[in-house]
Amino acid sequence: MNYHLVLTRRCNLNCSYCRGGEEDGPNSDIQYSLDDLKRFLQTDRNLQIMFYGGEPTLRIPLMLDIMGRFDGARFMLQTNALLLNKIPFDHVKKFHSILVSIDGPRGTTDGYRSAGVYDRVVGNVRWLRSNGFEGDIIARMAISEQSDVYRDVRHLLDLTDPSFDHVHWQLNVVWDAEDNWTDFDGWIRTVYKPGIERLAREWVERMEFGIVEGIVPFLPIMHGLLTGESSGLRCGSGIDTFAIHVDGRIGVCPISPDWDFSIVGDIWESSPADLKDTMSVDEPCPSCGEFELCGGRCLFANKERLWGEEGFKKVCGTVEHLIGRLRSKVPKVQSFIDDGRISLQDFSYPEFNNGCEIVP
Ligand code: SF4
Ligand code: SF4
Repeated sequence: MNYHLVLTRRCNLNCSYCRGGEEDGPNSDIQYSLDDLKRFLQTDRNLQIMFYGGEPTLRIPLMLDIMGRFDGARFMLQTNALLLNKIPFDHVKKFHSILVSIDGPRGTTDGYRSAGVYDRVVGNVRWLRSNGFEGDIIARMAISEQSDVYRDVRHLLDLTDPSFDHVHWQLNVVWDAEDNWTDFDGWIRTVYKPGIERLAREWVERMEFGIVEGIVPFLPIMHGLLTGESSGLRCGSGIDTFAIHVDGRIGVCPISPDWDFSIVGDIWESSPADLKDTMSVDEPCPSCGEFELCGGRCLFANKERLWGEEGFKKVCGTVEHLIGRLRSKVPKVQSFIDDGRISLQDFSYPEFNNGCEIVP
């Protein structure tokens, strides 16, 4: 199973769309012993640990200690990358995937995240590349009202020094809309939907030349459209993916330690086998026409509906639009597969759940 291991709730940034930077108190750090963690995790025969925060690189010695104790595990890292180059590279190279938070060009990234962040992140990804990191480097974007999805995703796809293997984005639609958006509907209509349309069109045009760009939300959805396979909730929360919070409680999702619905056990009383398939999305998802491809998008949003029913439906509208744009491209994509320019395998992503939620 996959575990988001929250190394600390502290963060060294305070991004405008995030609630993370506030978590600075006496209970922000791990309160259980690593021996107890080991007792819990040692019964899991397919162990994947995804370091998460707050900002996990604020606790590098702890991270290294854990990596040493779980030698056979697969490791992933989600980081703002400011301190990435402080992790000894002999440990860095053990990561299967590193998700680096960056929101697009310098203006967009620094506007949300703080002045100077873009240059430090890009510098540290360059450091990864120059040391020969062979894992998957994913640019993980948060997209909000100052973002232009086409411009910002294209910027990250087009970077060459350093390059990213994949680009993933999440819409800023989890927390309540107030303070976050002035005109969500207008932005969706004039910026997001046209941007998705153009990204999808150009993505498919490049396939004629044998290029399948690593646009994370497009890849597995196109794979599902081509194969008819249904996905389940793509982030895996409540199914095979859980979060171990700093106090040893286990939740279905790393962002919701303070919501009671999300807590399903703890490292002392639970076992990995007890946790599997403990929670699934409620209506309207199971009855939705896009459920097999969308999977329900986000368990947290499905349970909490912080945007209310109407807001939930608005976000669904963006998902339906994105899937619809990709569906319209299936005959073209299939023709490129049939004539051998690309292969079905090109859309098979991720190899393992790496923390990309897939559906924005
Ligand atoms: S589009 Fe909306 S209602 Fe349909 S499955 Fe996805 S989240 Fe659920
Ligand atoms: S998609 Fe939602 S439920 Fe899944 S990990 Fe992200 S916030 Fe949690």
